Amino acid sequence: MAMTRLPAADVGAALCARCGACCDGTLFDVVPVAPEEAAPLRARGLDPFPRDHEADLVVAAPCTAHTGAGCAIYAERPGACASYRCRLLREVADGAVSVGQAREVIGRARALADDLRCRVGAAHLGLRRAVELRRLEGAVDAELFADAAELGALLDRIAGD
Ligand code: SF4
Ligand code: SF4
Repeated sequence: MAMTRLPAADVGAALCARCGACCDGTLFDVVPVAPEEAAPLRARGLDPFPRDHEADLVVAAPCTAHTGAGCAIYAERPGACASYRCRLLREVADGAVSVGQAREVIGRARALADDLRCRVGAAHLGLRRAVELRRLEGAVDAELFADAAELGALLDRIAGD
């Protein structure tokens, strides 16, 4: 039986509050910010800075506006955030994947990410960067390596092209 197409806003409401992977440092280390967005974001407590030595501005992820269950500045979030649709979200909107199936993937990814974040001390770092730092320090054992690999596969499922 074909699944029904859903409005993108409904899919976001059904999935994103349970996920947050594109805000909390699980998927990305930074979030792009347009130059004209910098001042309003600073007024809301965020800290846009130049990426590397380029003029492009970013805010670091985990984003300080991420509450754990949504965005504290949702109505004024950067355009890059407002326009982002991960692969899983698009597949649910197209009716190719059910909300229940997507929630299963998101639930497992979030549980693994939260656990790994505690184990590698990534509270203020992007999770992938934190795991890589621990690997360079020789502090990644076989179990952590396997969990990071499982999370990587789930993140590809959520946001891979
Ligand atoms: S990764 Fe996808 S489902 Fe998760 S919060 Fe971002 S857009 Fe929503
Ligand atoms: S501004 Fe909001 S939507 Fe954008 S990364 Fe931060 S918490 Fe997520």
